[in-house]
Amino acid sequence: MSEIKKNQQIALYTVELKTTSPFHIGAYQDPMSDVNSPFTTLSGVPVVQGASLKGALRAQLEEYLILNYPSDTAMKPCIPAPWNNLSKDERALLGQKGQPGPYRGSSCGEQRGWPKTLCPTCYLFGAQGLVGFVRAPYLYLVGEEEIEEVYENRRDRASNTVASGANRTLQTIPQGAVFRGTLEVILHDHIRKWTLGQPRRKLQSYRDEWLEPHGRDPQGDFIREFILDRLEAIPRMGGFVSKGFGNVEMKVTPAGEKAV
Ligand SMILES: [Zn+2]
Repeated sequence: MSEIKKNQQIALYTVELKTTSPFHIGAYQDPMSDVNSPFTTLSGVPVVQGASLKGALRAQLEEYLILNYPSDTAMKPCIPAPWNNLSKDERALLGQKGQPGPYRGSSCGEQRGWPKTLCPTCYLFGAQGLVGFVRAPYLYLVGEEEIEEVYENRRDRASNTVASGANRTLQTIPQGAVFRGTLEVILHDHIRKWTLGQPRRKLQSYRDEWLEPHGRDPQGDFIREFILDRLEAIPRMGGFVSKGFGNVEMKVTPAGEKAV
């Protein structure tokens, strides 16, 4: 045997998140601790989970599609949740009675039609029962910054003093900290015959309508337009945004390819 064949060709990108205000990514509260809002850590290292990054990137792409392809129905994103979980206000974003809204519907994977037509965001990030092309990494804190504890208190409106028993402890990372990880984008999957930017013709139950009939050039502007530029446009992440937390600067740089 001369060369072992690998199934997937993957493009790698180094993602850096720099905090430009205090930053909080929430973890579950430890019942043994008096910290009310702990920061997420992995083996003691502060992290931004892949799911948080993916959620922020997906939301950023939704906004881009709505603003930049307003008259193209196939480019409309779905709201990635089941219909039953949508709020009244979210349902209003789907439009009604011949008046299309900014979103096409609830999660694409939930459609009754056959085959289900996937939106661009479900193509890239996955829908119920179908993986996408983008794998968001955990971002790890690099550098010397450490978790800081902020004490919040609530004023008693009657006495105008700090309400008793109302001190809350919140863990944050200060501004100027850098988190880093490696984003993976599947360029080609040999077994499934998937190529980024092309419709996946072997799928019976799904249609990549937005790429039909011929797809887009994956090597050219496709990755930049729909993934990298959207990542760099993420303005804020995490919790307590209304208190001025979570402002970030994102930077993405190519880091080669690998086969797996
Ligand atoms: Zn969708």
